[in-house]
Amino acid sequence: MTVVESVASEQAAEPKMPPGVLVEGPVVDAKFRDSYISFAIMIGGSIAALVWAFWQGIGRVEVSVFAGTFVLSTIGIGFMHRYFVHRSFRCGPVMRTIFAALATMAVQGSILKWVSNHRRHHLHSDRPGDVHSPYYDGAGHPYTSFAKGMSHAQGGWVWDRETTDAAYYAKDILADPIAMFFTRTRWYWYALSALIIPGAIGYALSGVHTMVGCILFSGLFRSYLMTMATSLVNSVCHSDGRYGYRRFETNDGTTNELVTTLLTFGEGLHNNHHRFPRDAYLSHAWYEIDMNGLIILGLGKLGLVHDIFGVGKRQQSTATDVEQGGAVASQNAFDGVAEDLRSAGR
Ligand SMILES: [Zn+2]
Ligand SMILES: [Zn+2]
Repeated sequence: MTVVESVASEQAAEPKMPPGVLVEGPVVDAKFRDSYISFAIMIGGSIAALVWAFWQGIGRVEVSVFAGTFVLSTIGIGFMHRYFVHRSFRCGPVMRTIFAALATMAVQGSILKWVSNHRRHHLHSDRPGDVHSPYYDGAGHPYTSFAKGMSHAQGGWVWDRETTDAAYYAKDILADPIAMFFTRTRWYWYALSALIIPGAIGYALSGVHTMVGCILFSGLFRSYLMTMATSLVNSVCHSDGRYGYRRFETNDGTTNELVTTLLTFGEGLHNNHHRFPRDAYLSHAWYEIDMNGLIILGLGKLGLVHDIFGVGKRQQSTATDVEQGGAVASQNAFDGVAEDLRSAGR
C-alpha cells in the first residue's frame, strides 16, 4: 500500500472542508467568471492558432516569439511560486515589481489567487482540502479512478466550487500594494502577454499576416500550453512515484519527474520542493536541473535579491528528514510569510 493509499483508506468517511475554503458568495462567482473568460479566450485562440498554422503557415518569427514568451512566462511562474508563495528570498520594490509583472503575464490567474491556492495545496497536500490533488476532488471525496484524479489535478480543479479564501491564506499579499496592483490590473497584463506584445513584435518584424500568427500562436496558444506544462506539476509530480521518483519519504504523493522539470525550469523537482518548501534552489543532485533556482542564485550574485533561503542550511535540515518527513515540511512552507508579517508589525 502506498503512502497516499493508506491515507485514503483512513479518510474514506464523509470529508469536512478545512477552514479557508469558500463554497459560495461573490469570491466563488468571481472565480468562475475569471476562469470562463480566460479559458474561453485561451482555448478558442489555441484552436484558431492550429487552424491558422495549418492553412496559413507559421514562420521563424512566430516560433521565436513563442519560445521567448514561453521562457519568460515559465520564469515568471518560478518567481510567483518561490517568491510570492514561499518567500525563498527577499528583494526590493523594483525587483518585486518586475517579478509581479512576469508572474501575472504568465496568465495563470492573479498573484492573490495563485498564492492562496498554492498555500492551501501545501497545507493539505494529497488530502481532503487540497486544491488540485489526483486523489481527492474539490469537496474532499477520494477518486476511485487514477485517470479521473489525474484529469482533476491537470485542470479539472479549476471548475471546483470550493474556492480558496485569500483572507485566510494570503494576508501578506493583501497587505502588499505592489502584488495587489498587479492583482487588480491582471487583465491588462494578460492582454499585454497574450495579444499586444506578440502582435506588436510580429507586426514590426513582418507585417499584418505575421502579427495575426503571432497573436494566435505565440500569444494565445503559448499561454494555454504553458499553463498545461505548469499543471503537470499538479498531476505527474503528485503521481506517488508512478512517474518519476521520490527522493524523500514525504506524507504526500509527490515525485521528481524529468520531463516536467525541463518544461517548467525546475518546478518538476516537486518531491524535493514539498520536503523543503522554502528552498530557493530545488536540486539535490547533478541530474536535477533547476533553471529557476539557478536564475535566483544568479540574481543573488548580482546583488538584485538577497537572503536566499536554504542553500547554506540544507545539510542541517536533512538530518531530521526521515523521521519527520512532510509534517515539518508543511509547517516550514509558510515560515517566510510569518516572518514578513511580523517584521511589518501586522
Ligand atoms: Zn505539490
Ligand atoms: Zn510550493
